[in-house]
Amino acid sequence: MCSIIGYYGENSAAPIIVKGLQRMEYRGYDSVGVAVKGESDISVKKGVGKVNAVNQDLSIDKMSGFTGIGHTRWATHGVPNDVNSHPHYSNSGELVSIHNGIIENYESLREKQKTKGHRFTSDTDTEVIVHQLYDYHLEQGEDLLSAVKLTIVDLRGAYALGVISHNEPGRLIATRSG
Ligand code: GLU
Repeated sequence: MCSIIGYYGENSAAPIIVKGLQRMEYRGYDSVGVAVKGESDISVKKGVGKVNAVNQDLSIDKMSGFTGIGHTRWATHGVPNDVNSHPHYSNSGELVSIHNGIIENYESLREKQKTKGHRFTSDTDTEVIVHQLYDYHLEQGEDLLSAVKLTIVDLRGAYALGVISHNEPGRLIATRSG
């Protein structure tokens, strides 16, 4: 388990998130990623390596927007690579989530979601969370907070989550178990 951070306020989110991730570097990690909600969509920048190096390569701190989430990953499911790095998008692109920890029942959730037509792009246990949120709950008309509350009922394990949605500007949800 490594670190997650979120920011919403009057300042640009990305530089604050990058600084926060730097402060938590002592925890050890293999990759870094940030999502920021812009005018028309949520942008994600992520990659393997140290915060400074990935930030220099991708100019993460120049991303523009006032709501964002950031993550350092210590891989448990899937090798450390750019695709497996967080944040992860839902298939619709509507929401983005970061996750530390382990979802113990991810295999059964993943099989169920595959039969419903969800595409998985990574090898992480994390992706089941975004599909669970979007498919089962948001699509049925729940708002983001209710969708998160309903989703965590289905998750087993110790985890911390951060979620933002393009359709709910100014809202950032964090939750944890264990
Ligand atoms: N289980 C997740 C993964 O492998 C999160 C790992 C972490 O805590 O950073 O991507």
